[in-house]
Amino acid sequence: MSETLFCYRHPQRETMLRCSRCGNPICASCAIHTPTGYRCPDCQQKLEKKFITATWHDYPLAFLITALASVPVSLLLVFLGTLTGFLGWFIAILVIPSAAAGIAEAARWVTRKRRAPWLFRLAAAGTVVGTLPAWLVALWINPFGMIYLLLYLLFATPIVYGRLAGIRLN
Ligand SMILES: [Zn+2]
Ligand SMILES: [Zn+2]
Repeated sequence: MSETLFCYRHPQRETMLRCSRCGNPICASCAIHTPTGYRCPDCQQKLEKKFITATWHDYPLAFLITALASVPVSLLLVFLGTLTGFLGWFIAILVIPSAAAGIAEAARWVTRKRRAPWLFRLAAAGTVVGTLPAWLVALWINPFGMIYLLLYLLFATPIVYGRLAGIRLN
């Protein structure tokens, strides 16, 4: 009944655990706890590879499209900052989430919905980098517009990342 198992990666370590996918004996420090039981590092790696579908050109594409799309949106926000009263805020609150959603969709479209954790990070980074011209314009014509740019970084970046990664934030 109680057959002694040894970790397949640490032959000197006794264990009671087995990988729930391949049945390999695994020690406590090798076992990865998942909702469907313990998993060995090899099976875990295979599953992660399956999840990554992006090809090399998806990475620069995702970055470029989000950066390019971010430029007009952030410039618009700087000019919104010249509006007095609540109108500017109102428009900013409407514009930021929908613009972010649009940027995420554009990234999804150019990468044909392929996935990779770094793809989502680069898309978020592109969203940030695309605001650079707007920061300069804001410095030059309207420093108040920087508040809108900060709002944009704060809300649009996680929305872009979340939409691509499949976490709905808005
Ligand atoms: Zn396994
Ligand atoms: Zn081990």
